[in-house]
Amino acid sequence: MSNPLFSADPKAGYLAHAEEIRAAIDRVLASGYYILGPEVEAFEREFAAYHGIGLVVGVANGTEALELALRGVGVGAGDFVATVANTVTATVSAIEQIGARPVFVEIEADTMLMSAPALEAVLAAQGGRVKTVVPVHLYGQPAAMPAIVEIARRYGARVVEDCAQSHGAVIAGQKAGTWGDAAAYSFYPTKNVGALGDGGAVFTRDAAVAEKVRMLRQYGWRQRYVSEIPGRNSRLDEVQAAVLRVKLKHLDAENAVRRSRAGRYLHGLASAPLRLPAVARDAGPVWHQFTVRTPRRETLRAVLAERGIHCGVLYPVPIHRQPAYASPSLHLPETERACAEVLCLPVHPAVTDADVDRVCGEILCWAKS
Ligand SMILES: *Cc1c(COP(=O)(O)O)cnc(C)c1O
Repeated sequence: MSNPLFSADPKAGYLAHAEEIRAAIDRVLASGYYILGPEVEAFEREFAAYHGIGLVVGVANGTEALELALRGVGVGAGDFVATVANTVTATVSAIEQIGARPVFVEIEADTMLMSAPALEAVLAAQGGRVKTVVPVHLYGQPAAMPAIVEIARRYGARVVEDCAQSHGAVIAGQKAGTWGDAAAYSFYPTKNVGALGDGGAVFTRDAAVAEKVRMLRQYGWRQRYVSEIPGRNSRLDEVQAAVLRVKLKHLDAENAVRRSRAGRYLHGLASAPLRLPAVARDAGPVWHQFTVRTPRRETLRAVLAERGIHCGVLYPVPIHRQPAYASPSLHLPETERACAEVLCLPVHPAVTDADVDRVCGEILCWAKS
């Protein structure tokens, strides 16, 4: 019997770099700095450099990265923020923490990412009340940023990218995260850059936005003990930053492994009765998930689980159908269909070619049954 396979495997992410990670943690333990110290500063510099030019502010998690990025670009209580509903609740809870209101935009049927024409329709219908647009680069697939940014600018809205699943993705030759006014990253252990606990960061090329986020993450301080604006505690700690510096060094190589496994799936499943992931023509995805679609999702999921292949479903219920956010009158047919059909196959860097072949074999076998 082969080893069980999971659609996320944070332990494998640690074991792949165990020695380097232990050395980094030891360095922090011996340093005497445990929060917002030299490791955080170094990680901020290195992650900024990864984007070319720009600034990074490390924060406590991805949800707060999004909240602080939104506040940083000027979103306040009562403002409308346009985003998608096939995302993790975090995207919307960040908006609500500010007292702002989410407005949901339909997705493209093929990529399952924010539809630019649907965004334009929402911005036109809301008559200037939407202050900011939050596209989500879901599954590591970059959204149609050239069109989304152009439409947002035309309606006077700012853009904050949810990059929690897209570390290193590229669209039209430019990295996801560098298109908007700011970008929010999560380093939750299962992400393409994963910490050994919670972590997040805001990237921006706007020095004023970076300065504001930097103040917001620690009590509104520019100078210690002087709160210039109401802030909070959303600090990144030194152990996580040291671990993230190790993980960042390996990001491009690990994304290449993901890309290779994804290519193998696309080939191996070409004849399967499934909808395979569609990649936009100018997109360089980083395959946070390899997401197939079938209306028989639950039977396929159960059959694979019996064979030790544990697939994820990101996400089974769209936000506008969640108990906390239910909007019965809102209909987003493509979003609802996607949530009912998606199944995420294991594609993280510890998945081997042989694993991919086994998953494809089981799926082809299920298809015949
Ligand atoms: C993981 C994730 C978040 C939230 O990040 P946390 O670090 O868990 O707070 C937000 N948006 C998306 C799309 C995510 O995948």
